[in-house]
Amino acid sequence: MVVQFSGRLPALETVRLEDKSAGLDGIIVVHSTTLGPGAGGCRLWHYPDLDQAFTDAFRLAEGMSYKNAMAGLPFGGAKAVLRRPDGPFDRAALFQAFGRAVAALGGRYVTAEDVGTTVADMQEVARETRHVAGLAAVGAAAGGDPSPWTAQGVFGAIEASAAFALGSDLKGLTVAVQGTGSVGGELCRRLADAGARLVIADVAPGRRDRLATILGARVVSADAIASVEADVFVPCALGGVLDKPTVAAMKAKLVCGGANNQLATPEIAGMLREHGITYVPDYVANAGGIISVSAEYLGESAASVASRVAQIGPRVTAILEEAARRDISPATAADETAERLIASAGRLAA
Ligand code: NAD
Repeated sequence: MVVQFSGRLPALETVRLEDKSAGLDGIIVVHSTTLGPGAGGCRLWHYPDLDQAFTDAFRLAEGMSYKNAMAGLPFGGAKAVLRRPDGPFDRAALFQAFGRAVAALGGRYVTAEDVGTTVADMQEVARETRHVAGLAAVGAAAGGDPSPWTAQGVFGAIEASAAFALGSDLKGLTVAVQGTGSVGGELCRRLADAGARLVIADVAPGRRDRLATILGARVVSADAIASVEADVFVPCALGGVLDKPTVAAMKAKLVCGGANNQLATPEIAGMLREHGITYVPDYVANAGGIISVSAEYLGESAASVASRVAQIGPRVTAILEEAARRDISPATAADETAERLIASAGRLAA
């Protein structure tokens, strides 16, 4: 099945995933292959209907095109979205079936973990295809769960943007973190080590409460986290969190987090500016995970991942400087840069 996507660049290819016996129900979207094979994780989530799964897959795949270009990776953008079966299911069978669908794309899509999927799931995918990363790391090679790298990159982005927008290091800043899962949890530890005061929220209490105890963080409800008194708001849950009511109520003057697709609509970037809130484009800040996935797939070392992730902070500074110089939003500055990188690769390939 091939459908057109009405986003900023056309989606190249969509594949409907359906294997009732394995509980597989979802979609792969390959959004762009100008820079290389489409790379992006596989999300397993409760989608009430297929339309919502499709919409999420398109937006996430598009975001991966921009993210991979911005991070200087030889990959286009793609994403898989799977609807989590109701009730118990055979996880191994589901991810093997997904692996066969990835194999059928012949390398046009490279998958890895995302929300709701784990290293163990990717090991099942790897039984069926080699176009998968985020597998257990071996020796000094890149690999393993990408989320600690994502957290490290977001931490660098927060440090850089706090210096630019707030004229401050992190010591003593109040940072509100929404979502204390793989990325948010690891990020909280780094922020606490840097002397930030943490306010945290998660809809699931387990890890949130453990972190609160260990790090001395204040817990607030999931509804309250975006509007608490804080210097920095850090979205690390799901997308679409920055909408009109949320921005209108926000006290923080800086938004920088790990979640994908934080802007509910592109216009929110302008609203954030009008409210004097600096927004670090999500895909610039959260590229650490795909940098690790890309290095693993290409057989590179963990050391090369570390040096690329260290470039995220300086890249954030460059985007914020350009936005200030041209009096445009950081989101526009980042999008134009990514589009330029994709277009120039397209011209070289033509
Ligand atoms: P995760 O599933 O481990 O954690 C997400 C957490 O958010 C969970 O603890 C969940 O309970 C919580 N949550 C969900 N809805 C919430 C709400 N309304 N309010 C508060 N908390 C809520 O996922 P993750 O891997 O940490 O990813 C988090 C975000 O970062 C996602 O948007 C993901 O796409 C993005 N991201 C992740 C990576 C990575 O390497 N894992 C890379 C790039 C981007």
